[in-house]
Amino acid sequence: MERELETLFEAQKIEIQIMEGERKLLQAPKRLQQMQDELIALRQKIDKEKEITDELEKERRKKEKELEAEKEKIKKLEVRLYDVKTNKEYQALLKEIEAAKEANDRTEEDVLVLMDKVEDLRKDYENSNVQLKEIEKESQAERAIIEKEIKSMDEVIARLVQERDNLLSVVSESLRNIYGVLRERRGGIAVTNVKNGVCLGCNMNIPPQLFIEATKNKQLIQCPSCNRILFFRAND
Ligand SMILES: [Zn+2]
Repeated sequence: MERELETLFEAQKIEIQIMEGERKLLQAPKRLQQMQDELIALRQKIDKEKEITDELEKERRKKEKELEAEKEKIKKLEVRLYDVKTNKEYQALLKEIEAAKEANDRTEEDVLVLMDKVEDLRKDYENSNVQLKEIEKESQAERAIIEKEIKSMDEVIARLVQERDNLLSVVSESLRNIYGVLRERRGGIAVTNVKNGVCLGCNMNIPPQLFIEATKNKQLIQCPSCNRILFFRAND
């Protein structure tokens, strides 16, 4: 019995490595997806920046055109100054020209503000693009590592499963069945060490007499709390 229990204990150790490998395999696609999402979000942010910049640039061009048109109008008004007959008309025209010039000054200021804004946004946009390139490069490198890991992990797990099955094949069918059921029901841990009167599977105390029996490894003893198969090994 001791040999069988020890074999199960060794199989359990391999089982834990298999679970660890499978956990990593499960995480890998999540990490890949996460990187993908980050890139998409950054690209969207950059697109948005571009959109806003283009919008403001359009606005600036529109205002500049307006400005040109207004300047033309003022020129024409100024030419008309020579043709007016009365002082009243002359004053009225001057007033109109003055108002148009003031309006133009304000538009010019608007244009300058827009130019500053566009310039700032362009800088942001360029920085974001540099950032994107860097992240794309990093992601690509990390993706390559993860894909390599997945591939080797597949091989490692296949080898471990083979090792575990080889071990399980030499224990009695009834013991193998108990192991199988417990593994399913107890989160993959069917066999556990027992130390200082405590089951290391569930950390519950074991009655002293049962503990003494368990440390002998002579018979199948299961934890009264979690049902796991107990195996004593001092240095494990
Ligand atoms: Zn237990």
